[in-house]
This record gives sequence, structure tokens and C-alpha cells, in this order.
Amino acid sequence: MNARQRIPTPAELGCGPAEVRRKYAAERDKRLRTRGNDQYVEVAGDFACYEADPHVAPGFTRAPLTETLDVLILGGGFGGMLAAARLAEAGVHDVRIIEKAGDFGGTWYWNRYPGAQCDIESYVYLPLLDETGYVPREKYAFQP
Ligand SMILES: Cc1cc2nc3c(=O)[nH]c(=O)nc-3n(C[C@H](O)[C@H](O)[C@H](O)COP(=O)(O)OP(=O)(O)OC[C@H]3O[C@@H](n4cnc5c(N)ncnc54)[C@H](O)[C@@H]3O)c2cc1C
Repeated sequence: MNARQRIPTPAELGCGPAEVRRKYAAERDKRLRTRGNDQYVEVAGDFACYEADPHVAPGFTRAPLTETLDVLILGGGFGGMLAAARLAEAGVHDVRIIEKAGDFGGTWYWNRYPGAQCDIESYVYLPLLDETGYVPREKYAFQP
């Protein structure tokens, strides 16, 4: 191990594990809310327009389905799609995803403002990269 590889001591860094833990605890405390669901703004009144999907033709609707399934997944965001993919891997194929928007994608379907991008490194954030062999072009992938 040469000098460049040596890990600095806490004294050399001017902070150690205790300081890092204290900082993490302080930042966590800033995020804690005591108001539970009351902290959220109801999507109603002046905000009711945000309930509508702006990416489909006005009046967009789907015909109702009546069917018996093994698994019903509500929401076609990353969570729902990943659950469906893992179910398929496990041999469960009688699955339907119900999505109220015009298409799949969840957060990434709804949010299309200029410059929208993920804020965790895309190599870590994007699901199924290993399985699909896709390598994101950007460290913080853009919405499209
Ligand atoms: C700009 C932006 C950047 C982000 N970057 C990151 C990041 O870098 N890292 C990170 O970890 N997270 C990030 N997030 C958070 C992001 O929301 C989550 O990472 C992830 O997309 C959540 O997936 P999800 O499937 O749980 O929820 P969603 O993507 O919100 O999907 C839920 C879906 O359920 C549908 N739905 C809701 N209710 C119903 C219903 N009653 N019936 C039918 N369908 C319904 C919704 O229409 C939606 O499509 C970011 C969010 C935004 C907006």
C-alpha cells in the first residue's frame, strides 16, 4: 500500500465516525414530520387539475374488465412494474397492473418538465439494468 492508498485517520480528517453519525442524525431530524398525512396538500379545489392526466386526449377512459387474477397490482410506476417483473421470474404470470394514467411509468410518466432527471445515480436508481443490459448514458438520467 503506498501513501496515496492509505486511509486517513479521523484525526487527520478532522472528523470521525462519531461526527458523521451526529451529522446524519441531525439531518434525519430535519426530515421528520409530526403531522402525518396532514402535512400533504389535498389534490382538490385549486389543485384538482393535477388529478387529470395532461398527456392523454380529454375524456380518455378505458373499458372496464371483469376477470379473475392471481395478482392485481395498483399503479404502473417503477414499484408496480418491478413487482410484475419479479412475479414473472417467479413463475406468476396471471397478473394485471391497473394504472390510472394513460400509460406506464408512474413518476416518470407524470413529470415531464424540462430538465427533469433522477437525483440518485442512474446506475443505482434504474431498475432491471443488469437484466436488460442497458447502460444509462447519463450519471443522472433525464426523464425521457
Ligand atoms: C423529478 C423526480 C426525480 C426523482 N428522482 C429520484 C431518484 O433519483 N431516486 C429515487 O429513489 N427516487 C426519485 N424520485 C422518486 C420517485 O417517485 C420514485 O423513485 C419512484 O418513481 C416511485 O415509484 P413508485 O412505483 O413507488 O410510485 P410512482 O412512480 O408514483 O407510481 C405510482 C403509480 O400509481 C398510479 N396510481 C396511483 N393511485 C392509483 C389508483 N388508485 N389506481 C390506479 N393507479 C394509481 C399513479 O398514476 C402512478 O403511475 C424522483 C421523483 C421525481 C418526481
